[in-house]
Amino acid sequence: MSAVRLPTIAAIATAPGRGGIGVIRLSGQDLLPMARALSGGKAPKPRVAVFTDFPDADGQPLDNGLLLFFPAPHSFTGEDVIELQGHGGPVVMQRLLRHCLSLGARLAEPGEFTRRAFLNHKLDLAQAESVADLIDAASETAAASALKSLKGEFSQRIHALVDQLIHLRMLTEATLDFPEEEDVDYLAAADAQGQLRGIQATLDGVLASARQGALLREGMHVVLVGQPNVGKSSLMNALAGDDIAIVTDIAGTTRDTVREQILIDGIPLHLIDTAGLRDTDDVVEQHGIARTWAAVERADLALVLLDDRAGLTDADAEILARLPARLPRLVVRNKIDLSGQAAGEGEHDGERVLRLSARSGDGVDALRRALLAQIGWQGAGDGVFLARERHLDALRRARAFLDAAELDYAHSELFADHLRMAQLALSDITGEFSADDLLGEIFGRFCIGK
Ligand code: GDP
Ligand code: ZN
Repeated sequence: MSAVRLPTIAAIATAPGRGGIGVIRLSGQDLLPMARALSGGKAPKPRVAVFTDFPDADGQPLDNGLLLFFPAPHSFTGEDVIELQGHGGPVVMQRLLRHCLSLGARLAEPGEFTRRAFLNHKLDLAQAESVADLIDAASETAAASALKSLKGEFSQRIHALVDQLIHLRMLTEATLDFPEEEDVDYLAAADAQGQLRGIQATLDGVLASARQGALLREGMHVVLVGQPNVGKSSLMNALAGDDIAIVTDIAGTTRDTVREQILIDGIPLHLIDTAGLRDTDDVVEQHGIARTWAAVERADLALVLLDDRAGLTDADAEILARLPARLPRLVVRNKIDLSGQAAGEGEHDGERVLRLSARSGDGVDALRRALLAQIGWQGAGDGVFLARERHLDALRRARAFLDAAELDYAHSELFADHLRMAQLALSDITGEFSADDLLGEIFGRFCIGK
């Protein structure tokens, strides 16, 4: 436990709005007196639900429900935790929360409960991040994978790597005091190079899994080029299939939809509709459009949707000319049920062309496969745990240090130093030595109450 006494924090843990039950969570040190006060003098047993009135300062009940007391260290945060399960109405919850504050708690900051769990070694950083990812999961696959990370599968793979690295570092550092030249012989005898190659291979495996996990979280960004009536909405619906329905984000003042999101095999597909990228004098709308163009910069693919009977219009060509040159394109000719063409893939002027019908569904599966292949999604096998761009970055940095170590193999000191740096990069993932600003950045993105 930390030596500093942190203030007691309180927050409504359940989602805003009405519900059968609403939960208020408190965390702090020595919360038994508060648990007593909140239950009107009862002495709650550890981890046993007590049904009780929640009285205010004058003894008048604010609500009734269950009180749970989790003494440290056997709680989510590692501190004393109290949970009040009351009636889930906004007014009831606010009154109860205000009462907790009057008893000396302060309002929790976003992610503060999880941050305390991290500081008390209940979770490492990758696990703490997966709490948010699990809550924000956009698909069942993403939720299952986030749960894997939360239960420590990702962290264990990082720990295994770090253990291998530590072993090699110990070996290397033992040689640093050796007389000249002998260290290299010693390392050769211990097959340090072989060990390094083994670590590189393990890291590549973790990186590949993490990349899949990051796809599951980030999805793919697709720029949709297509004139009114070519079948954009119909195609979105056809692509979404059985997955959760379309999320449409109508930009503040614009009537055109700029972004939509659907799921394909659990992978979020973020669509930017270029029909919304028109010229305008409206300042607010210009801001939205600037943001959208910035998103276009990061896109993975441009999908050019045409009516198979009409083909590419001048307006389409104009938009295509403004897209980043590096952006791969896929031309989709829709409404083959009207044009009489067969579904399938071909090529035209060096561009890939897919023919399909959003209405009949003919050829839609091929488009799904093409989209997933474009970003390298290999399907959610058992090994996929959710990962973030931050984790990929740390893994890539560690890989670069291993490469450097390979080159500097004959210089024990440099070799040892590269290994040390690789270990440091990996520890960024689990947060062993993380700086406060990184923690602030990660936990600040949580909602209050987590
Ligand atoms: P959007 O304006 O690009 O979003 O196009 P919509 O999806 O709203 O479709 C415009 C019209 O074309 C609607 O009447 C659709 O039912 C029709 N449509 C879309 N796709 C197809 C298709 O593959 N075949 C046929 N026959 N009609 C389609
Ligand atoms: Zn539409």
